[in-house]
Amino acid sequence: MTAERIDGKIFAEGLRGRVGVLAAEFTARTGRKAGLAVVLVGEDAASQVYVRSKGKATIEAGMAGFEHRLPADTPEADLIALVETLNADPTVDGILVQLPLPAHCDEGKVIATINPDKDVDGFHVINAGRLAVGQAGFVPCTPLGCLMLLRDRLGDLSGLDAVVIGRSNIVGKPMAQLLIAQSCTVTVAHSRTRNLADVVRRADIVVAAVGRPEMVKGDWIKPGATVIDVGINRVGGSEPGKTRLVGDVDFAGASAVAGAITPVPGGVGPMTIAVLLRNALVAAYRNAGIDLPENAI
Ligand code: NDP
Repeated sequence: MTAERIDGKIFAEGLRGRVGVLAAEFTARTGRKAGLAVVLVGEDAASQVYVRSKGKATIEAGMAGFEHRLPADTPEADLIALVETLNADPTVDGILVQLPLPAHCDEGKVIATINPDKDVDGFHVINAGRLAVGQAGFVPCTPLGCLMLLRDRLGDLSGLDAVVIGRSNIVGKPMAQLLIAQSCTVTVAHSRTRNLADVVRRADIVVAAVGRPEMVKGDWIKPGATVIDVGINRVGGSEPGKTRLVGDVDFAGASAVAGAITPVPGGVGPMTIAVLLRNALVAAYRNAGIDLPENAI
């Protein structure tokens, strides 16, 4: 069997297009653009790339982007004061503080300062709680993007066995919550899981969010299963031209067994920014008190 390739890039382009249409409609109805503020502290190279692409994507979607770049030695109190200013700013619908923060800033404290109704990353404990109890809130972008790809491929997920490898607050746990809400039977595996290969072999849906290059092997996969690879791992050394990106799943091995699989790159990666724009747009509609049907995007 050769698995169908789930093209996250194409899906994300479609999602960004739908966001663009609704963003234009928002501007027509309110006389202002939906606004997304991104805060970056320090010079972390990867974070700079992410922030630049988020800003570009925001403008392309017809939304207003507010970028705040602060020096690495910015006191925590100043960062918190900036978040409070953004909370109070009616032109800012969504606030994203790029992680990781420098060591002297307490990430939990900073995230807790964000107004939960502007927390488009879905990292605030209020939004984690809303997700856990099934209330409308903001769901972290990467797992929500994974769910969109799964629903697109499989339709109704009810009754399927799902294994999520990884239990981080950013990916694994919210992914598990989303799959429970879809009536999957969910197992969350992590570094202490025994016989991981056997656990994964039971799954109709495998979501790998580990951060270990090609750890999940082809013979761990149940024939026909749908595999979502969240991992982004750089391998091949640091020499220019030698570095390549691989996922947490052995793509070639798993492709021979799975029914469908996301590639790395070009699978989950492009979904994250598209879902961020989607969350920012939903925030704008909610903050303006305009109804946006639950499944409009
Ligand atoms: P974390 O490091 O926060 O979590 C990794 C999880 O994997 C932990 O729960 C850990 O278990 C588990 N784990 C580690 N080793 C093993 C093992 N040998 N067997 C089973 N489980 C193991 O990572 P994130 O959740 O933040 O990210 C995971 C991956 O996804 C990374 O590659 C990251 O780069 C990528 N990522 C991609 C995004 C995208 O846009 N595509 C966005 C976010 C992340 P334990 O809890 O026991 O330590």
